[in-house]
Amino acid sequence: MPTYVRTEKCDGCKGQDKTACMYICPHDLMKLDKDGSETGHAMKAFNQEPEQCWECYSCVKICPQGAIEARHYADIVPLGGQVQPLRGSDSIMWTIKFRNGTMKRFKFPIRTTPEGSIDPYGNKPAAKLADIAKPGFFTGTEDGGVMKGYRAGDASELIRK
Ligand code: SF4
Ligand code: SF4
Repeated sequence: MPTYVRTEKCDGCKGQDKTACMYICPHDLMKLDKDGSETGHAMKAFNQEPEQCWECYSCVKICPQGAIEARHYADIVPLGGQVQPLRGSDSIMWTIKFRNGTMKRFKFPIRTTPEGSIDPYGNKPAAKLADIAKPGFFTGTEDGGVMKGYRAGDASELIRK
């Protein structure tokens, strides 16, 4: 079930060119209605194609205002219930509201290294963009001018704590 924005909480990411929800959505669904001409709510984001939403929760988790919610499938979260995450730099807390008013919170660590410390390329060599069409780009090795689609693993390239 798709996401929707609680307009009273959304601050349009303070008018930045690309809001957090626009940046993170893998399907490019979130949009900021700058002048209110599309939704009647200026400087509020909205899900422009709800039927295309993957329900991946990326926008729900990244929104700094907690303004995005997802309509859940009734067999998982019956009507009146709610599941809402609040993401920190090292943990995420899920707030579960039951239909009878009971509320439970679960907090989980989400990383083992400081935020911003990951080097996504590890010790891998820099990619050659000229080779982008060749099989094995980035992970392959060149053998006599021919790119092989694999190379042997190298334990020194593993990203460790
Ligand atoms: S990330 Fe949240 S606060 Fe920012 S524009 Fe999207 S819904 Fe609004
Ligand atoms: S739940 Fe995922 S696919 Fe749907 S609007 Fe949010 S980020 Fe995009």
